[in-house]
Amino acid sequence: MVGLGYDVHRLAAGRQLILAGVIIPADKGCVAHSDGDVVYHALTDALLGAIADGDIGEHFPDTDSRWRDASSETFVRFAVERISERGCYIVNIDVAVVLELPKLAPYKNQMRDNIAEVCEISPEKVGLKATTSERLGFVGTGDGIQAWCICEIQSLY
Ligand code: MG
Repeated sequence: MVGLGYDVHRLAAGRQLILAGVIIPADKGCVAHSDGDVVYHALTDALLGAIADGDIGEHFPDTDSRWRDASSETFVRFAVERISERGCYIVNIDVAVVLELPKLAPYKNQMRDNIAEVCEISPEKVGLKATTSERLGFVGTGDGIQAWCICEIQSLY
């Protein structure tokens, strides 16, 4: 099975930018109820999508104060657990982040390693790309960030 996840967050000054668990020095960070890790949010939805198990908002509503400033790693770990409960495993994950600034090249390896660790797979099974929006649209103006994720899941049996 395959799953697709997509997420957007607004960027604002005074917030930390955390992507796939890496704190990235930046002028702006994600505005969110949780820590705003847009990569982990898209990843969570891709994993849940592959087993048709709802979405991140159903499992972790932003009206619930338990998830205020929560580490989004919790959401990914939950989805990984749901996959293993169904007798399935993750074949591979591919992520695309769309962000104007800063350049993510220096952080990509760490982001990839973090995704692999949280998903309990080898880093060779994790693709991670970063691109800009060529100064177009809300990403291009620096007002927001997008993350896309796709994953493949297989049954153990
Ligand atoms: Mg989100």
